[in-house]
Amino acid sequence: MLTDTTTAADDKIRCDACPVMCYIKPGAAGACDRYANHNGELVRVDPHVVLERTVSHGGRLVPFQAVGDWDGKIVHEPSIFVTAIGAGTTYPDYKPAPFIVSSEIDGVDMVTVVTEGIFSYCGVKVKIDTDRYLGPETATVRAQGEAIGHVTTSEYGSQMLSLGGVHHLTGGSKKEGRVTCDALMDLSNCKPVELTIDGGATVVVQAGYPPIVNGVAEERMRVGCGSATIGMFAKQWHGKVDEVVVVDDHITGVLSEHQAGKLLGVPETGIKMKGRRSTPGRYFRVAEPGTAWGGTNIEDPLSILQAFNPRIAWPKLRLLMVSTTGEHYAYFELDEALQPIEKDLPATLGESVARIKENCEPALSTVLFMGGAGGSLRAGVTENPVRLTHSVRDALTRVTCGGAPVYVWPGGGITFMVDVTRMPENAFGYVPTPALVAPIEFTLKVKDYADLGGYMDHVRPLDSILHGEGRRHISASPENPWPMAQPKSPRSRS
Ligand code: SF4
Repeated sequence: MLTDTTTAADDKIRCDACPVMCYIKPGAAGACDRYANHNGELVRVDPHVVLERTVSHGGRLVPFQAVGDWDGKIVHEPSIFVTAIGAGTTYPDYKPAPFIVSSEIDGVDMVTVVTEGIFSYCGVKVKIDTDRYLGPETATVRAQGEAIGHVTTSEYGSQMLSLGGVHHLTGGSKKEGRVTCDALMDLSNCKPVELTIDGGATVVVQAGYPPIVNGVAEERMRVGCGSATIGMFAKQWHGKVDEVVVVDDHITGVLSEHQAGKLLGVPETGIKMKGRRSTPGRYFRVAEPGTAWGGTNIEDPLSILQAFNPRIAWPKLRLLMVSTTGEHYAYFELDEALQPIEKDLPATLGESVARIKENCEPALSTVLFMGGAGGSLRAGVTENPVRLTHSVRDALTRVTCGGAPVYVWPGGGITFMVDVTRMPENAFGYVPTPALVAPIEFTLKVKDYADLGGYMDHVRPLDSILHGEGRRHISASPENPWPMAQPKSPRSRS
């Protein structure tokens, strides 16, 4: 695909698609490998991606009798979406976006403005489904030894990393910026990246795949905290065992003390836990965090117990200890001295451990790219950029990334997040400023586009670009809503 602007300098040409302004020799590519000098013309190297909606999305078939020479293929024209992947970038900000494409959907004239945005302010939020301890909150996360982000708050059954951002991209050494940019691009393109956490674990993260923590692939995320696990399975344990301890780094549960056990009439057992008692049957900090039982550092579950109360406990008392994933479990009976002696797990309790495992979902790594549509993006859509922000807020304009749906944060600006697994492959690139290049599309009614000060003289019909060279047609993901569906009714702004 040819770009609009080239500048000759001897036999080199100058790319002006980003602030680097590369001079590119004939046959060579620029610093980002996205643009090249092809026989004296500046071309975007990667194909421009166009999504096609197929029958599974509700795409229409030509009626059999209606078209005599129909070749049996799905009619694609009404169901095509021009993404920004491979569309190119414009720089500086005031230039209109590379493609402003009109099409008619169900009798309504629509326009889609597409551009590959250059994001200096961007990062990824990583959700890692594991109980294993990855590192302390706020600890530095490194790639190739360089700081690229930090550990943030744990969420239910998952640990979260916040990576990238302008601080690491531009605020540190050149190497830190480059490594951060590489890691963000690889994570966003669903490639595996090894991360090390100061004072914690090494984890390989790949969007849509299980995390690998210290060389071990995680299989399942926990069914709940220790207390929740007691609540869920208390009935299944009732009568089959006298005491159950669900070991968890955050909240360890004890059946006989827990409200679930009380309601079932489970008698006291004289068990004494280490750690800090919260509410009945719920204990905090029974051990240190780690990668063993329930995300703690213990290999021996008995290490979190104190001696049983001899006035309450009895010989042959049956005790099950289990982790929140069912991965670790052990069964004990008290001897005459009230010491727990490990025994084989009875089959009746084996079922409940299997049930805990069954209720754990597969552990995955999830990567959300997060960026903000700032100056260059918004000014490429309209001469009055704040109106684009208002239009997105009012739900008149739909924002997509490579055709995938995004979540737009409330508040100022157009700050969005997108699940990278819902985007076409290799949708992300980079420029060596350093910054990430990500596709972004704005779709709205033509009338609304004119109202917000859009570049109406740059609008071109869909047909005019569909049959040009350098376009790649791919099927839209059936999991995504069709990006050309009509925007919802506008919300009123106060
Ligand atoms: S880094 Fe890429 S986009 Fe930027 S000027 Fe060089 S070739 Fe063009």
